[in-house]
Amino acid sequence: MRETLDFLLFDWLKAGDLTTRERFAEHSPETFGAVLDTCEKIAREKFAPFNRLADTQEPHFDGERVHLPQATHDATRAYAESGMLAAAQDYDVGGMQLPCVIEMAGNAFFSKASVAMGGYAMLTSGNASLLMAHGTPLQREVFAKNEFAGRWFGTMCLSEPQAGSSLSDIATRAELEDDTDPLGPRYRLTGNKMWISGGEHEITENIVHLVLAKIPGPDGKLIPGTRGISLFIVPKRLVNERAELTGERNDVALAGLNHKLGYRGTTNCLLNFGEGRFTPGGRKGAIGYLVGKPGEGLRCMFHMMNEARIGVGLGAVMLGYAGYEASLDYAKQRPQGRPMTAAGKDAASPQRPIIEHADVRRMLLAQKSYVEGGLALELYCARLVDELHTGDDPAGAQALLDVLIPIAKSWPSEWCLEANSLAIQVLGGYGYTRDFPVEQYWRDQRLNMIHEGTHGIQALDLLGRKVVQQGGASLAALAARVQQTIERAIQTGWAPQANQLAAALAQVGGATKKAWSTGEPEEALANAVPYLQAFGHTVLAWLWLDVALAVSGDSAFAEGKRAAARYFFAYELPKIGAWLDVVARREPLCREVQADWF
Ligand SMILES: Cc1cc2nc3c(=O)[nH]c(=O)nc-3n(C[C@H](O)[C@H](O)[C@H](O)COP(=O)(O)OP(=O)(O)OC[C@H]3O[C@@H](n4cnc5c(N)ncnc54)[C@H](O)[C@@H]3O)c2cc1C
Repeated sequence: MRETLDFLLFDWLKAGDLTTRERFAEHSPETFGAVLDTCEKIAREKFAPFNRLADTQEPHFDGERVHLPQATHDATRAYAESGMLAAAQDYDVGGMQLPCVIEMAGNAFFSKASVAMGGYAMLTSGNASLLMAHGTPLQREVFAKNEFAGRWFGTMCLSEPQAGSSLSDIATRAELEDDTDPLGPRYRLTGNKMWISGGEHEITENIVHLVLAKIPGPDGKLIPGTRGISLFIVPKRLVNERAELTGERNDVALAGLNHKLGYRGTTNCLLNFGEGRFTPGGRKGAIGYLVGKPGEGLRCMFHMMNEARIGVGLGAVMLGYAGYEASLDYAKQRPQGRPMTAAGKDAASPQRPIIEHADVRRMLLAQKSYVEGGLALELYCARLVDELHTGDDPAGAQALLDVLIPIAKSWPSEWCLEANSLAIQVLGGYGYTRDFPVEQYWRDQRLNMIHEGTHGIQALDLLGRKVVQQGGASLAALAARVQQTIERAIQTGWAPQANQLAAALAQVGGATKKAWSTGEPEEALANAVPYLQAFGHTVLAWLWLDVALAVSGDSAFAEGKRAAARYFFAYELPKIGAWLDVVARREPLCREVQADWF
């Protein structure tokens, strides 16, 4: 994986060129490489060996405290000490001023080694970065800085039992108590938050919850819709302006842990805010400090959305990678069966390693094309985030990110899950047991189509908003980039694939128009997921072609990249025909079928 990562970062995406920008001037390709080396080492030594342990020794709540394996404490401590929590932050807040693409690449090692143990740090860094963008100077100093230092960890509390995809329906209530508190206007929160990752643990002395809640209007009623949603800092233990613990417990209580299919090493919690379990200041109600302005909670929360979604997509890719490498290793060693040639008919001849069977190679090639293609996608998007923040054409980067982010989040969630399933298949019966790691990768992976916007919600975002916004400007920006690759490829031996890609792009454009030809969202969006799948496969075909053009020589590495690219065009891209067919004719079946026909 490291060789592929380095190739994609430095040869394909020219990440080294970023050091000519003022923000990254103190870096060099060598310092970038050193960050990757450090992450790789910590992940190999502190995370990977304990990935199974974190799964089997699930977090456990004794009614008072949540217990985690010591290995999780040690691993998260090592991560915090590496400085990676503040990797992209300014030097003056203790950061390393790393580009997003290098930060993401470094974090990829942890996702591969143990995605669940890595979860606490990813959440903390996202939480603190959000506070850097929207918090007051004191909120940054007290909360964000202590999170970056690893003294406290953070969470993101959006979902509620009755409000997951539809956040406008959240019911957590925030009532103003004192608008002169130096930590920010102080409110009392009441409500329940479901599925909160990292919501309770004893790894750090405090937990900084970022909570979405509604401030009631003058009539005491909650404002319907997303307009009424605000964002609050709700620390588990109360702190003063000097970031010292006051000794008082805030009114946030763990109602219970969720017992998950995978990702078990990260606690997942139902949290009750303001139920009166604790009474800070002598009364019930969780104390929360407003971040940003009232009503701007969702806008603040989604400020970090690009990074969060790339992070989820990259996590999915790395789980796929872990399964791919495990199954590749197994396939080289497992003797089973004989070749189909005349020599194979001799039952007395030794059995051959399964990697010699074409069907096993098909499964390995499929995995390779999904995980390496997925890695290219995520790094490409992370590089665009750097263009957005420090490049010459931020608007152009934004337009591309708009259409690519739903793909960055959802494509690996679906296809690297398929990679994990194929890894199990390569191991046969052994893959289905807990003696090998591949079943855990599959279970851990299954989350990714659910959180950070479900697959269905990502599809609605892509077809319902992103490709039609500003008269289709984002789609046109992407098409222009794809066209550039096609033009370069048409001059080479990749001309057949270039033509195939041009046809696919035209098909996506045509289906987009036909889906919206009646202007009825219900008709257009009934087949949003097949659209997402076709769009994603077209994007991946483009990236594979672009990567193939960047490969030179005839090493096994280069041939492997070309084989995976050819695989994608031969076996995967043709699938888009069926997906786009239902989109273009606005197939009504799924919206017309009646609930009582099932
Ligand atoms: C392990 C885990 C960790 C999580 N961590 C966090 C966390 O840290 N913080 C946090 O706030 N949340 C977290 N979540 C919550 C997660 O974001 C939600 O589960 C997710 O948003 C979906 O909400 P839901 O579970 O209520 O499903 P629902 O919203 O009820 O969706 C159920 C199904 O209906 C579909 N659906 C819903 N609405 C529509 C629609 N309008 N059109 C078409 N289809 C629709 C969905 O796509 C889905 O397939 C986590 C969840 C899990 C499982």
